[in-house]
Amino acid sequence: MDVRVGVRVEGVVQGVGFRPFVHGLATGLGLSGLVGNDAGGVFIEVEGAPDVVGRFLNGLRADPPRLAVVERLTTTELDARGRDGFAIVRSDAAGQRRTLVSWDSATCDDCLRELRDPADRRHGYPFINCTNCGPRFTIVTDVPYDRPNTTMAGFEMCGPCAAEYEDPADRRFHAQPVCCPTCGPSLSLLPAPPSREGPSPPERASLSAAVPAPAPMAAAADVLAAARAMLADGAVLAVKGLGGYHLAARAADADAVAALRSRKHREDKPFAVMVPDLAAARALCLIDETEEALLTGPRCPIVLVRRRPGTPLADAVAPGNGSVGLMLPYTPLHHLLVTEPVVLTSGNVSDEPIAYRDDDALERLGGIADAFLLHDRPIHTRTDDSVVRAFRGRPLPVRRSRGYAPEPVPIARGRPVLACGAELKNTFCLTRDGRAFVSHHVGDLENYETLRAFEEGVDHFRRLFDITPELLAHDPHPEYLSTKYALDQELPLIAVQHHHAHIASCLADNGVDGPVIGVAFDGTGFGTDGTLWGGEFLVADLHGFERAGHLEQVPMPGGTAAIREPWRMAAAYGVPDDLPVARRPDWTTVAAMAHRRVNAPLTSSMGRLFDAVAAVLGIRDRVNYEGQAAIELEQRADPAESAAYRASINGTDGFTVTGADLVDAVVADIHANVPVPLIAARFHNAVAALIVDAAARIRDTTGLGTVALSGGVFQNMLLLERAVTGLTAAGFHVLTHHRVPPNDGGISLGQAAVATALSS
Ligand code: ZN
Ligand code: ZN
Ligand code: FE
Repeated sequence: MDVRVGVRVEGVVQGVGFRPFVHGLATGLGLSGLVGNDAGGVFIEVEGAPDVVGRFLNGLRADPPRLAVVERLTTTELDARGRDGFAIVRSDAAGQRRTLVSWDSATCDDCLRELRDPADRRHGYPFINCTNCGPRFTIVTDVPYDRPNTTMAGFEMCGPCAAEYEDPADRRFHAQPVCCPTCGPSLSLLPAPPSREGPSPPERASLSAAVPAPAPMAAAADVLAAARAMLADGAVLAVKGLGGYHLAARAADADAVAALRSRKHREDKPFAVMVPDLAAARALCLIDETEEALLTGPRCPIVLVRRRPGTPLADAVAPGNGSVGLMLPYTPLHHLLVTEPVVLTSGNVSDEPIAYRDDDALERLGGIADAFLLHDRPIHTRTDDSVVRAFRGRPLPVRRSRGYAPEPVPIARGRPVLACGAELKNTFCLTRDGRAFVSHHVGDLENYETLRAFEEGVDHFRRLFDITPELLAHDPHPEYLSTKYALDQELPLIAVQHHHAHIASCLADNGVDGPVIGVAFDGTGFGTDGTLWGGEFLVADLHGFERAGHLEQVPMPGGTAAIREPWRMAAAYGVPDDLPVARRPDWTTVAAMAHRRVNAPLTSSMGRLFDAVAAVLGIRDRVNYEGQAAIELEQRADPAESAAYRASINGTDGFTVTGADLVDAVVADIHANVPVPLIAARFHNAVAALIVDAAARIRDTTGLGTVALSGGVFQNMLLLERAVTGLTAAGFHVLTHHRVPPNDGGISLGQAAVATALSS
């Protein structure tokens, strides 16, 4: 006796080859029925013997397509209709409006095999893709997700590609970016403009005219061979990738890497390195199981891993850093180009946004690159490489962008919210129906260019996910451009305090509501009392928070100058004049500024305490990128050291932790000639210990047993490891980040979670 079962599948199940997968599974089992897309996802009806239908359902759960995310699968019993084959039914456009656009995926094994097969018609073709891999988010211009609404619109499919596209049994059925050497994008290699100053406008016009017309496949091999030869010769190459332009140089070539650094005006900030395969990654770095899974997975982020000593990476790749960011090739172009380790850093000058339009790239990167490796598939959304670390067997995001965005994070259902994020490392977030669409990394909202990218991004997400926000969440900092944007919109506003947003983001990341003990340590955020916070102990849930305690406030002499110059924080913490850090000519002036509180706003920032200690130890008195002093302090610490300094905690209701105790202990050890690595480690251990002590105090009065750790300071792996170990030993349950970064890139999710809670 046959049965007929209706199945509904929800999640990221459209545009990822779900229907051909269902078709193949059902026909393979001899079942009849149908499959289609609608507003809710994928609907299926299958009919056949009960045990076979059971096997079908098991297969559906066990082995969905690579890019599919099955959030929910529900079944209903239907009346049997008799067997009449299995059909893929047309979807209605209304359904497609709510399609969840997939993230961009690294080239799959099947495509790689074809790429390397001389008999395949896409052999050596740098734009090969299928329903299981390839560009998605970066090429979507509008909904529904169909070829005319992607940047592939200008490429008309040839006969063989169209046949694959129409065949439900084919791996390229409805793969929107499907193409081949006959009908798809092509590569070209263009010399950089002659002047290192960048081309003048008329020259630029002739440059664009010089871009060769689309070339046949044979030319792709020639172009790639020429590009590889240039890299081998020490050239800096601008390479148009998936979400933007990169600058590439051979990683073992000290001169090439140094040239890239000086032309890009990037002094110390580490460069990422693309290696051809896992074996090459292992040759350079120590890689554990989690890191391997992250490196080789379809999201293909940059993974921060520990360098092996004495490997042939130029020192200038990551100066003074024991870690390096590695990634594997994630597009066919990268697979063909990268045959040895290559620095692949964002195509920009210092802190500007990464270039992604050809004319803009030629103009801005003309002074940096020796040549341009271009292609003619436009990039619609600028998307930086994502950066992750592995922490205790799970990913810890540092930058969530390409390969992750726009995959939604599940949150509580409520009214649709637009959360505007913070200032640095900005992301925004739109919510609908229990999903939080956290944007790609927008960047530091400090100039017109990034603000425009932010506004365009918000509009794009609204269209793409069919969201009309009813509420706006923002940071209360009056000077953030994201705040100003929020105030300009005509929507009800919810201001979410910066550190509350950090803790809420950690709660949403872990799918919990709280209340918890929230430890939010970062550089700075606007406090409810108008001072700068950043070393905060909160009792918080998604509805609100209380400031249970904080790091004792100190002045920041010179305001933002103290962020760029950590030695000023050493002066603020009042270290004795006999230390090398105090030998600067302006030391006395700045110490007096701190003492008299002239141009010296108060802060309880933990980031600034790390800065002060780094400066006192002579590690760094001036930073070239955010967090550099703390990163170098962490690098210097001896992980084998277990001793810790103690900070006193004063007051019960609204306690303060005396950071100056730790600075005093550091100074005492310097005077006792204790080696720097031991001092740096004792300081880290001390901060971990004060977290445990403060949390225990809060537990005594509230009974709370869960601690959430958030804020940029928790990108420090030594501190995170010691804090989690200490808290766990003290009986706490600890929440850390896995989906969004602990830094300000996660703020928008926290704002959205709070606004959702407050409005429902
Ligand atoms: Zn593929
Ligand atoms: Zn074709
Ligand atoms: Fe922050």
